[in-house]
Amino acid sequence: MRGASDMGRTSTVYGPVLSWRLGRSLGIDVLPPPKTCTFDCVYCQLGRTVRKVSGLVQAQVGKKEVLEDLGKALALLNPSSIDYVTFSGSGEPTLIPELGEIIEGVRSLIEKPIAVLTNSSLVNLAEVRRNLVAADLVVAKLDAPDQPALEAINRPAEGILHEDIVEGLMRLRNEVRGKLALQIMFFESRVGGLTNVNEEMIGNLTRLTELIEPDEVQINTPTRPPSEGYVLALRPNLIQAIAERFSASARQSKVVSRYDKKAGDTPKRIGHEDVESEVLGLIGRRSCRASDIAASLNLSTEVVMEVLNDLKIQGRVSEIKYAGEEYYRSP
Ligand code: SF4
Repeated sequence: MRGASDMGRTSTVYGPVLSWRLGRSLGIDVLPPPKTCTFDCVYCQLGRTVRKVSGLVQAQVGKKEVLEDLGKALALLNPSSIDYVTFSGSGEPTLIPELGEIIEGVRSLIEKPIAVLTNSSLVNLAEVRRNLVAADLVVAKLDAPDQPALEAINRPAEGILHEDIVEGLMRLRNEVRGKLALQIMFFESRVGGLTNVNEEMIGNLTRLTELIEPDEVQINTPTRPPSEGYVLALRPNLIQAIAERFSASARQSKVVSRYDKKAGDTPKRIGHEDVESEVLGLIGRRSCRASDIAASLNLSTEVVMEVLNDLKIQGRVSEIKYAGEEYYRSP
């Protein structure tokens, strides 16, 4: 909800944001900016990875801070306007050893389903899977059918292996108490060759999906400005065709695609404590159009534009054009 908290600490809670799969989602970012990740995906909406790591990291904030931030956010929100509490943001949430403990703490404060979005890079570690078991829904990334594609698309830290990811996901499948969704980001490219949209790759990804047997397969495409300018989103009819391929092969799993349905209604807020910080809290985690910010924060676009213009003058936001629209993000 807010970008800043006590004594200048960035709040770990942001949004709610409208998510295509999770509806109105209140975000929890256990690794506040700068972006800390095991990957540096070519399509990442957060720009290049600042802190690229290959294993678990020391948390800068713990359960106490997250619960404090959540308590403040909930005081300003109508809980019935939230569909999910989602661990995501500017860092890979599974990097934090205390993730499971924090999830249980959040559960004691709000009766909403809890989702974790993960890049799957460390699911081969038993400790990471134990933490994920606490969630109601794990949305795990798998964009690449093999190691060379993983290296080209996700650009992982050294030592992260595709075979470990697949094996970890198969183990996670058997261990999760809630649901497991596999999310695959399909994209094309202005640069010859760099894409996962070809017969062989799609065929291999469908076979991996059959092995992993998730509850759901989510077919996605980058709809926000990507880290690398050559990345292109797929047209809805191509996304739909790919989703049909998966539906035909992944018999046990429900298949959904980015264009199946729109996110829910605008979240209802009771009040705003600090609109500037709330706007910064959102764009620090994802590039947004002014209309996205207005919808998430239940503000008029005019008010949002006023705040964005002030922040631009202060050098605290930058603008980027993508698919003919203006997006705002951290500089
Ligand atoms: S898309 Fe996710 S996994 Fe990939 S670099 Fe960005 S934050 Fe990391």
